[in-house]
Parts: sequence; C-alpha cells; structure tokens
Amino acid sequence: MNQMRTPPQQLIDTVTVNSSGQRLMQTTCPYCGVGCGVDVVQKQTNGITTLSGLTGTPEHPSNYGRLCVKGTHLLDTNSLDGRLLSPQVDGQPVSWDNATATVANKLRDTITRYGPNSVAFYVSGQLLTEDYYIANKLMKGYIGSANIDTNSRLCMSSAVAAYKRAFGEDIVPCTYEDLEQTDLLILTGSNAAWTHPVLYQRIERAKLRNPAMKVVVIDPRRTDSCELADMHLSLRSGTDAFLFNGLLRYLADHQGLDQTFIDAHTQNFTDALEQARRHTVADIASICDVDEVQLTRVYQWFCHSQRAITFFSMGINQSTSGVDKANAIINCHLASGKIGKAGSGPFSITGQPNAMGGREVGGLANMLAAHMDIENPVHRERVQRFWQSPTMAQKPGLKAVDLFKKIADGQIRFIWIMATNPVVSMPNRTEIEAALAQCETVVVSDIVHTNDTLAYADIVLPATGWSEKDGTVTNSQRTISRQRALLPPPGEARHDWQIMCDVARKMGFAAGFNFTGPAQIFSEHAALTAFENDGYNGGERALNLAGLQNLSKHQYNNLNPVTWPVHRQDGSARARLFSDGRFYTEDRRACFWPIKPDLPAQQTSREYPFLINTGRVRDQWHTMTRTGKATKLTEHTPVSYIALNPDDAKTLNVTEQQLLRIDAKCNGGAPVIAPVRLDAGLRSKECFMPIHWSLTQGSHNRVAALFNGAVDPISGQPETKQGAVALCPAEFAGHGTLVCDSADTLDLLLKHTDYWARQPLENAHTARVATHLSPADLLAVIQEQLQASQFTQLAMYHIKSTDSLALLVVSKDLPVCTLWLHPTYHCVPGQWLDALFKNPVDSATISAVLRQQPDEAYLQGPVICSCHQVRQQPIRDAIDQGADTVDALGDALKCGTQCGSCRTTLSRMLDQASTSLPCTTD
Ligand code: SF4
Repeated sequence: MNQMRTPPQQLIDTVTVNSSGQRLMQTTCPYCGVGCGVDVVQKQTNGITTLSGLTGTPEHPSNYGRLCVKGTHLLDTNSLDGRLLSPQVDGQPVSWDNATATVANKLRDTITRYGPNSVAFYVSGQLLTEDYYIANKLMKGYIGSANIDTNSRLCMSSAVAAYKRAFGEDIVPCTYEDLEQTDLLILTGSNAAWTHPVLYQRIERAKLRNPAMKVVVIDPRRTDSCELADMHLSLRSGTDAFLFNGLLRYLADHQGLDQTFIDAHTQNFTDALEQARRHTVADIASICDVDEVQLTRVYQWFCHSQRAITFFSMGINQSTSGVDKANAIINCHLASGKIGKAGSGPFSITGQPNAMGGREVGGLANMLAAHMDIENPVHRERVQRFWQSPTMAQKPGLKAVDLFKKIADGQIRFIWIMATNPVVSMPNRTEIEAALAQCETVVVSDIVHTNDTLAYADIVLPATGWSEKDGTVTNSQRTISRQRALLPPPGEARHDWQIMCDVARKMGFAAGFNFTGPAQIFSEHAALTAFENDGYNGGERALNLAGLQNLSKHQYNNLNPVTWPVHRQDGSARARLFSDGRFYTEDRRACFWPIKPDLPAQQTSREYPFLINTGRVRDQWHTMTRTGKATKLTEHTPVSYIALNPDDAKTLNVTEQQLLRIDAKCNGGAPVIAPVRLDAGLRSKECFMPIHWSLTQGSHNRVAALFNGAVDPISGQPETKQGAVALCPAEFAGHGTLVCDSADTLDLLLKHTDYWARQPLENAHTARVATHLSPADLLAVIQEQLQASQFTQLAMYHIKSTDSLALLVVSKDLPVCTLWLHPTYHCVPGQWLDALFKNPVDSATISAVLRQQPDEAYLQGPVICSCHQVRQQPIRDAIDQGADTVDALGDALKCGTQCGSCRTTLSRMLDQASTSLPCTTD
C-alpha cells in the first residue's frame, strides 16, 4: 500500500488505484480538533462502492499514522443505519425542490414581516469550511443579519476572544511539533488523554525521548492525563485565573520577565502586573486550595524553562470568565517572551474537527469572514464589495445562548439548525426545548432521522455525512486538510453547501450562489482572505490563503495538508507566527490584559450543595449520533454515569452502580438520573457527568438541563464546567436488565418502565431499567404486551429468597426477550446477553438465563482495550503474574498495542497495583 502513497506538501494526485481496483483515498477524521489524516481503501464491486480498510495517514502532520480508538473505528460508525434519507415538511416526504422552496419561502416571508433579524442559523464545527462559508455569506451578505452562530460557541469562543484581545486577531500561535520541543508542558482544563488522544500520545513520546521535559496537569479532577504528569494541581474549580495571575507576579519577582520583548513588542504590561500583584503566592494557594510548595514549584519550572507551552481547552473556556482566564495564561507567555518560538506559547486546542475553519470564514455571530471584524465599517464595506452583495449585516448577531432566548421570546421566528443537536448540547435544556416548541419555523439539516432536536423540526433536510462530504477542514494548529468524498450520498442526501445555495437561488440570490462544487467555494474563500491583505509580512490579517486562491479543481482535489498563512502559489507556508515579535493589533504590539479574577457564577448552596462538572469520555463523541453506533466504542462506557468521590457516596449512602437523582434549580423539575461511579480522583463535594448521552439513549439523560445558561460577558460562552446540584438516591421498586431481539420490541417494553438506559449490542438490543411497579406487576405488563405476538415459549423463574425474577421469551427456539428484575441493581454482562441472542437457545442456556448465571468467560470486568477487547480481569491477572509495564501488558495480552487510547488506564492499573490500592477503571 505504501508505494501508492505520495509525499506530503505537494499538489499531486493522492487518489490512486492499484492492480486489483482498490483505491487509496486520503481524508480526515471527523471527530476532534486534532484533525488526523486517515487512509481509506475504497473498493468497487459490480458498480457498488464500499470502504474496506482504514489506517492513519503516515505523512499527515497531525498524526503521522497514529489514530485513537474513535478514529480506528471510524468505519464501524459509518453505516446507513439510522440515516435520514429524504427531505420532509411537516412530517411528510417531499421533493428537494419542494423542501428548498418551502425553506426559501419561509425565510422570505419571515424577513418581510419581521425584518432580517427575525431569522437565524445555528451551525456547527462539524460543517466543512465550504459549507460554513456559504452559510455565513448568505446570512451576513444577502439576508443582512449576523444571526448566525455555531456550536463552537460552546467549545472555544473564549479562546477566540482572548487571542483577539491579546494579538489583534484570532491566531493560535503554536503547532503540534511545539509540544515535542518544549521543556515544560502545562495541561490546564484539558483531559487530553481522552479528548485529544493522538496529541497526548505525541506528548508521551516526547517525554520518553526527553525525560527532563516536565508535564504539569492543572485540573480539579485527577484524570488519565495525570499519568504523565510530574505534578498535578487539583485546584478548586474555576480559580485558574488566580493561579496564572500568581505566575505573572512570580515571574516579575524572580527575574522571569523578558523585559526586552515586553518593551519592544507589547503594551499594557504595568497594568496587568499591578492587578496580578493583588495576591501573594500564599493567597493564591489558599484561594485555589492547592499546596503552596507544589504551586511554587510549578511557578519555578515555568520561570526557569527556556520553552513552555500552556495547552488549554474547555476547562478554561467553558466559564463565565473564560476570556479572562485565557488572557491570564497569555499574559504569562508574553511577559516571559515564551511565544513565537519553538516549543513555546499559549495553545488553545479545539474540540470540534472544523471549529477553526468556522472561525476562518466568520461562522460566529460576532465575526465577519476572513478574520475581519463586523464592528469595523472598513471591513464591512470591503467584504460587501468583494461579495458584490446586496446588503451587509451592520452589527454583531446573537450569540448561541441569547439566540435561543430570543427564539423563546418570539423575536426570532425562523431557525435553521445544521449538523448539531442543541437540545442536548446547550445549557438550560428546558428553556431550549420550550423555545423550539413555540418557534414558527424550525428547519433541521442532519444525517440522522432521530435525535432530541429533530423532535422539534418542521422541515427536515437530509445532509451528507463524513464519508460523503467533500471539502476542507482546519485543525487546532491551523492546518487545512481535505475531507474527501469516499462514497456517493445515500438516498436523497445532499451536501450542506448545495442545500443552502439552492435556497439562496430560490430567494433570488443566484449571482452570489452559483457554485458548482467545493473547489469554487474554497477559491472564493481563499481570495477573500487575500483581498486587500497584501504582503508576506505586511498584511493586516495573518489569515491569508493567497497561495491557494487559484487552485485548479485537480489541484484542490489533491491538496495536501497545509498550514496557514499560505502566501505563495507554490503552497509554501510560514508556520511560525509572531517569531518577529509583530502582532496584528493596530500598533503591532501584543496587549497584556489586567485580569481581575472572578469565581464561577453557578455557586453551590445549602439546597444545591454539590458542584457538577461535565466533560467527555474516551470513546464517545458529542451526542453519540455516530460513535454511539459502534459496539466497540460503547463497551468502555456503556451508559451515562455520575462520578462521585467515595466519601461523598458514603455520606449519601449510595454505592457503585446505584441510581442517583440529580436536581438543579434550573432543570424544571425533570431530574437527571444516572448510576454512580466511584472516582477517588474527584474533590470532595464535586461530581462529574459526561456530556454525550441524550434522551435517545436514556429516559433521564438531560445533563445540560443542570446548567443555567450563565455566560462569559465577552465571548458568550456558557459555563458548563460548574453547576450546582442536589443529589439523592433514586428510589425504585425494581431494577433490571431488559434484552430484546429487535429495537421495536425494546421500545414497546421500555414505555412501561420508569427509568431506562439503552446500550447497543451486536445481536440484540438492551437497556438497564428501573420501575416503580412491583416485579410481579411489571411482569404482568410485559406478558400482556408480548402475548399479542404469539410467542411459542414463555418461561419465568422467581427466586423467592431474593425476590428476583427472570423471564425468557422464545419463538421458534430463538430468544425474543429476557428480563431480570431485582430489588437492587445486579450487573449482567452485556456480551453474554449479546451472545445468547446470536443462536437458537438450548435447555442449558434457558436454565442459565433463568437462574441468571452468566458463563465465567463473561465475568471478566469491563473492556479496557477496545481494539483488542481485553477486559479488566486478565489485565489484573497479568499484573499479578509480573507484567510491570504497559509494554509488558501489551506483550502478554496485546492491550494498548493498536490505537494506544487505553495506555493511560493500563498505566493507572499498574500504579494502583504497585501501591496495593483497590483498582477501579473508567
Ligand atoms: Fe480522530 Fe482521534 Fe485523531 Fe481526534 S485524535 S482526529 S478523534 S483519530
């Protein structure tokens, strides 16, 4: 296969055909902002195209061949199962012509009646840059409103605002190579081991090569990322700005300043330092609740390291003072001159695959295209002149949280949601649902036919997904990569840019939207970045793709990854920005911002005494509409959970797996319910829930309802890292596991339970359930539901001593449904149940099912290594038998030898074994 591959950074054909008709296609993983290159083998058989293999692209500068577990199983998530395949209006299938005409008419009618600011688009970092460009052009240049915002608002808009305040432009000054060239890496507000695993693995290897390199993790939780850390500062949630202000003061007091750089290239240093001087190191240790000696050591490391990176993500951004926190970080890099050079800089890592592309084309309501400023009349005039558009938005539009509030109060009457699921991801879910329920027109473009947001759609438009989309994405280090179409669109699905261009033409804007393909759109976008922005060093905006504006279609199709700015036609780029000390403010000086640290808005109280934090789990992505399909990705964390410190669990009188009820002031009386997971890495009175699970997967998965929508006043980014909740055991009469041969049967029966959490299996459909009915009453209901279906065998077993029931329904020797019901929860191994539904049942199996006695082989604990399906118990056994390194475990069991995502868990198991602590896994 390697001989088919082409060298990087040259505009030559990367789509090749071998002698057996297989084609190697190079594309990009759609899951996170690392933006890994993937090689996919495409096969043609009898005119049908299939994808038969996937590996990391060896030459891609993001990953050099490596993939995490989500990338590795990308093809498992790519089935047509659950896909939306045709447009619908009011629940009825219609032609595309009808659907786009209806959208155009509704838009035109709403604008005529209520003005351009009565309509809005809510888009997504899942869109390609070309889609994003069209959405922004249509809204700002043709409709004349800036009411286009994106789910990237929830992810990194605080970092964008901080970069703009400090550098004059939204510029990420680092590259991934810097992570390997640094002396000190501070990970703050990031569990990169799970959220950006390929970068974490690059850091891991860099530290192996250079053991002198220091890694510090600043995070209230002890996460898997701490496995690599020389120091973990478990700070009080939300106190990061105090900590970085303290670092600035420490640098000033310990000869850590680069005064030459400060004098020559910055402004406002004195004010920033004056503000930082308000607290001593001792004050800060107390406010942040960290050990003063450890804090001082981290300050010393930063002060004395030649090179340092501060790698930050959602833990900093998702805050009511996220912009200030990011500027407090940037201040330290400017003060010490640790910026614009190898191995140094404040490095914001994006969550979404194309959050950066959206930033480049103005996908946020407070931006214009090509990094121009919507509040600058010169910029507005320039963009309008370039577009030759009939109008131009004159002021910033509504940011996400405000946008949904204006839907609720009737000022926004038309919303078009593209490639995102805001009912699940936005805070204050109860209000979001109410807003969409009463909005005059809700249009949703998506790839799936069911999710929590689609339930509110009047018009549903089927869009293309990862393997069909064709365009570009930009990753966290400003590298633009092609996402190539590997398969034809299924059913009637269309590309997002096509759908929007069609609507724009029907609104009478044909001249601006007569694009025939993504190459043309990309050229226009690139040309706009270079428009009145001349010169390699002298341009007023760093974002400049002049060298890419005249690509032929062939060159675009074969574009290799390239990092902007790209000034020249030969594709050569200037990767390191700010190396000359020149920034993109008016006077070319970087700006220090005096930071007055603030605490989070959502504080605990007597009534809501627990602090709740949210984040991602290792093997899932966003609202699971794709990763939730692959059983290999669900085995690591089958259902949502609430993680609690064991001492808090004891106080609440709950144990591992027991159902807990979670309430907040803002959740409208609809509680969240989830099983407990004990986690000694959590601070006292703090709990953690993952963001991914929704009502599609469980009856009480409404985690976003626990946050009240408090936002950063500058960026508008909501605070979803700190909410205040009340916890208590969720009481049910019976707890069980229900397994059915079909999703329909499962759905039918789940309606009669009071709590359920679904988990996909290969051969069956299962859910953990709980009921307020007595076991006998629930059984009667289920029997009634199933009896209509003429099953041949129905067996039931009642263990009187434990008051537990087992039910098995068989039809023609094949299992149809099983249910185990207990007064308290009993874990039944999912893979055993799955195996039962694969084959006809014999009497021994029936007996095992009814007596609830799983085969020993399935009682091996949770899956730790998803790639090689290695469970917890064999790993423990191997450790007991002398395996004392992650590599030794890999030699013995193969775990950790493919994508590497589980290596931190293996390392933690080894640590726990060596300190004889009880072992828990995530
Ligand atoms: Fe995809 Fe994983 Fe790479 Fe992110 S780190 S782009 S999820 S393979």
